[in-house]
Amino acid sequence: MNDLNVEVTLSDMLDAREKRVAVQREIIERYKVTLISFTLNIPGNIKVFPLSLKAHDEAVKLITKALNRQGISIIYQTSNSAKTGCESYFVVKEQPITVKRLMMDIENSCALGRIFDIDVIDGEGNKISRSDLNITERSCLLCDDIGHVCSRSRKHSLEELQKKVIEIMENYFEKQFADNCAACAGRALLYEVCITPKPGLVDRNNNGSHKDMDIYTFIDSATALIPYFRDIVLSGIKFHSEKPKAVFERIRYLGILAEDRMFTATNNINTHKGLIFSLGIICASAGYLYKNEEAVNTDNILKTSREMTLEINNDFNGKTKESARTFGEKLYATYGITGIRGEAASGFASVKNYGLPILKELIEKGYSLNHACSLTLLNLIANVKDTNIIARSSIEILREVQLQTNNLINERGIENISIGEIMDLDNQFIGKNLSPGGCADLLAITLMLYFLEN
Ligand SMILES: [Zn+2]
Repeated sequence: MNDLNVEVTLSDMLDAREKRVAVQREIIERYKVTLISFTLNIPGNIKVFPLSLKAHDEAVKLITKALNRQGISIIYQTSNSAKTGCESYFVVKEQPITVKRLMMDIENSCALGRIFDIDVIDGEGNKISRSDLNITERSCLLCDDIGHVCSRSRKHSLEELQKKVIEIMENYFEKQFADNCAACAGRALLYEVCITPKPGLVDRNNNGSHKDMDIYTFIDSATALIPYFRDIVLSGIKFHSEKPKAVFERIRYLGILAEDRMFTATNNINTHKGLIFSLGIICASAGYLYKNEEAVNTDNILKTSREMTLEINNDFNGKTKESARTFGEKLYATYGITGIRGEAASGFASVKNYGLPILKELIEKGYSLNHACSLTLLNLIANVKDTNIIARSSIEILREVQLQTNNLINERGIENISIGEIMDLDNQFIGKNLSPGGCADLLAITLMLYFLEN
């Protein structure tokens, strides 16, 4: 766009205002009903830049939604853009006072609304003011005084005002982005537990091989973790200028707090420890990419996740069968299995190779998300060394399970495996007290990336 980052003079702004008044008059003469005239309040001599364009678009959406919600029909709508800023006009069939109240709701209650200038003009060309409604004037962005009093007395410097306005816009969109990511993470956790059937795992049919948890335990845990995912995205944003590895060090403590939150919600049952770690890294990566203005897509997320955790396998360095203390350390010392740490350090290679491609392929072929996820889980079980299965049995049993699942997939073709056949597997897993919790986590990560993509 030609108007991007162009400096404007005071006389440009005065011309623009004159032109705006002329446009308003012309529209009112044509329609003779209520007009909404909208501009953004951007201090300084550069009015049009990517963030201000985004804020203008958001305002148009918020105004349109507010009108639609009240059943107010928009007779005519137009937007102009010039180096002096964007302007939008809405012609509506409704009492101007009613419209003014609606628009003030946006200005007062939406965080971004503080920088909106929404004028409401009646069919005769009179501007409705706040005092017409006995409502106090808008307060200053920087202090508790009335806005126009501060601006008339030049109480605050231009730099201060510009900084504040940029901050309002950035915070609004960052929070919105973090909320969307956290919703995807929460959705991934809830979908994962609801996918049915899942061999040996808690699902809508049964509690699998578990005696101490059911679907509600997972719901309690998932909902308790949503704020954590939001905080993690915001951390990725906050520390965007650091190296990914340093960001990972900064978010570790949030993960520990999230584990506390999970254990409180579940009465000390571990439902999502692995996903606090892995979805946490994915959320931090998403925030990091967003703030660095890189595409938030699967490839970039996995690449950043890998950079964050590249050295995490060092935790295992020098561990021998004798010195290994935790189950994870023992698995590494004995079989070289690195579990969820290794997954993260590889950029979630199993999700990339055995999760996402098969899920997308099946959905494209018309499978329901439930059936597609159920089959994706089988594919993960067949290909990934699940540490939870080993924990409840042995490496030999894991090999047997993987061989059996692989044979089923190869003989039948994954697309032809029915829900009934997976239910049979479920019974077998329950009979042997097996639970592929590691693969369930990978399924949740697959879902998270799928939701972020869509
Ligand atoms: Zn002030």
